[in-house]
Amino acid sequence: MPDTPYDILIYGGTVLTMSEDGRIVKDALVAVRDGKIVSVEERAPKEPLPEAVETIDAKGCVVMPGLVNSHTHVPMVCFRGLADDLPLMDWLNNHIFPAEARFVNREMVYAGAMLACAEMILSGTTTFCDSYFYESAVAQAALDSGMRAVVAQGFIDAPVMEGNDPGKQRAVADKFADRWSGYAPLLTPAFFCHSPYTCTPETFRTVKEAARQARVPYLTHLLETKEEIDIVRNRHGKAPLEFLVELGVMDEGTIAVHCEWLAEDDIDTLARLGVKVAHTPESNMKLASGITPVPALLRKGVPVGLGTDGCASNNDLDMFREMDTAAKVHKLVNADPTVMDAETVVKTATLGGARVLGLDRWIGTVEAGKMADIIIVDMNKPHLTPLYNVCSNLVYAASGADVLTSIVNGRIVMKDRRLTTLDVFSVMERVRKIAFDIARG
Ligand SMILES: [Zn+2]
Repeated sequence: MPDTPYDILIYGGTVLTMSEDGRIVKDALVAVRDGKIVSVEERAPKEPLPEAVETIDAKGCVVMPGLVNSHTHVPMVCFRGLADDLPLMDWLNNHIFPAEARFVNREMVYAGAMLACAEMILSGTTTFCDSYFYESAVAQAALDSGMRAVVAQGFIDAPVMEGNDPGKQRAVADKFADRWSGYAPLLTPAFFCHSPYTCTPETFRTVKEAARQARVPYLTHLLETKEEIDIVRNRHGKAPLEFLVELGVMDEGTIAVHCEWLAEDDIDTLARLGVKVAHTPESNMKLASGITPVPALLRKGVPVGLGTDGCASNNDLDMFREMDTAAKVHKLVNADPTVMDAETVVKTATLGGARVLGLDRWIGTVEAGKMADIIIVDMNKPHLTPLYNVCSNLVYAASGADVLTSIVNGRIVMKDRRLTTLDVFSVMERVRKIAFDIARG
């Protein structure tokens, strides 16, 4: 017996560890102390439970790693439903960029991020990777709501948000990394160059240099639409990936988001350079921008995580819905129902995402030694009965609303669907007030 009680004990559930050996433990006992998973074991019948501060009965539930949303722009929840059913460039240039120029400020970013954190916790996400402006306000919201996050300060040259002078950009980047680097691995600072069609070569180089020095992740949208290839070719005489490779910004510290229009040899290039990919199928489908060749990327060993993208192009942050879509869309476009099986999809949403974010040492599986980022999913529901295959039910039948309890870093942030870290009604009210102004234009 330990000297001190455990912080949390979860008993009676089926643990989907998502470890490399695919271990599933029935009638398990998961013990958590000091933010970490101490043990995951089968519990002998009628064995008395050890002492713990919090004991959770998970009978009829699946206990699994918290979901990792590997790409989003959380403050964009404020633009949810503002402009739908448009092509990307029209949507961006005539709706989103103008709304951002008028309404994005620290208050909007914090309020939106708190609403997004509520939505993510309620739907089983425990880690998110965000890229936006005023990212310090997102970092604060992540800390206040108790979520794990990679927070990437955004850089963009057109339209101008926060200045495009390389000296100023470098100062902004260094200050941001400095301010947030002490919270790892709960919070990881990062940098985000919006895209090859909105950032100059100087911006890409300057921000990458800052990322290398601070040893933090570096992100960019890449090859989201076919049109991007023509825009970048006309401006720089090269295809987008070639442009970035020649700038020297593509390496194992880089996360390329979207990547729908990869040529066959582009996949080899990403694999060779160690670049990671964040896959956002619902956003790509809604904007009809294309589909990432995920089965081919996985075959070549490129780490792939799953993400929702921002709420203006999805329009929700429910990773269960995203898993369902990811499983089905690749079958359709490949005319092959055997690709992206349910287990592969759950992996992209857990350990795969953790690898993409460089956090797989700490999270992504329910195993002893990992940080306790755990969700408990109630399978005792009509739409989840019977239960032949856990991953099948999670991907094809469950939704975020089936998550009962969420634990991040050993802290219970939702218990029996009640959020413990924030007042969801006041958070919604704050965003409704902001939306009232946005709607008036
Ligand atoms: Zn995005």
